[in-house]
Amino acid sequence: MAENLERLKQRIPLLEYLQRHNWKPCRAGTCQEFVGLCPLHPETRPSFYVNAAKNLFYCHGCGRGGDLIRFVQLFLDLPFHQTVALLQQELTPAPASRLLEETAAFYQFQLHRHPEAIRYLEQRGLHDPALIEEMGIGYAPGGNLRRHLADLGYSFDQLLDSGLISSQGRDAFCRRVIFPCLEDGQIVNLYGRSIGTAFPHRLLPRSKGGLFAWESISGFSTVILVEGLFDLAVLWQAGFRNTTCAIGTQLTQAQLTQLADQPGRSIYIAFDQDENQAGQKASHQLARRLQNAGIAARIVQLPQGHDPNSYFLAGATTADFTALLEGTRPW
Ligand SMILES: [Zn+2]
Repeated sequence: MAENLERLKQRIPLLEYLQRHNWKPCRAGTCQEFVGLCPLHPETRPSFYVNAAKNLFYCHGCGRGGDLIRFVQLFLDLPFHQTVALLQQELTPAPASRLLEETAAFYQFQLHRHPEAIRYLEQRGLHDPALIEEMGIGYAPGGNLRRHLADLGYSFDQLLDSGLISSQGRDAFCRRVIFPCLEDGQIVNLYGRSIGTAFPHRLLPRSKGGLFAWESISGFSTVILVEGLFDLAVLWQAGFRNTTCAIGTQLTQAQLTQLADQPGRSIYIAFDQDENQAGQKASHQLARRLQNAGIAARIVQLPQGHDPNSYFLAGATTADFTALLEGTRPW
């Protein structure tokens, strides 16, 4: 509950909420402090202060202060629980998220107009149309996104800020299969896998703290962790729905915390078995970090040179992969 309230307050910053309700702030000295007329009592000289960094308010006129929930309670004269429910309703997707939703929908539509993209998915062993749809996989041919988003009313600056368009006005994703990356059911980033000769991996330049589609698997007591979204897709396709992905092998503290959010969970690490041992090294490092965080870890030994994607492409079955999982030992 406390965690949900924290998240609610983060998602609706107090200053933003006040401005949406016509509060007119002036800067007050330090960069994150604002002052204006108190919405809670009549006054002619501004004494209502908001600290945007701390997400708190205080009024020197009526002596009241607190966080967003406290403000809304006082402002609308509602009991606590009703206030929280009301704020939760307000949580419409943020504009940046809406832009990514529109982009992902556009790319999803493009997928079916570009046979080369479907061919690429088939080459990577992804052939289940329902899964492709469920994961929201799309295709960026390049060169047509900017006009589409401009037609929807997005300004050049908004597109530039999102990283979808370069300063020269070119699409960031060109000839790439696109996977939307979700957090709390909202698209927070897009991953593009080149189907041509360009560098294989590309993410929009924003933070990626979460694990892929975590909310759909967070109840599992065993979780398979893979490096890439194609590994994840083929494992889901083979029935291993308890698979997640951090896009890479270097987990952030936030991702580690997510993995540890259920006591007694075991993590099966199924990273690439690289010729140069990089994947194996990363697996052992992660197993140690997990163990230090109190989570049981097992390392899945794929045949040399394979990742889960290539393993299934080479003809492995659900039973083969199950046998690999059963053959692991606690780290
Ligand atoms: Zn006041």
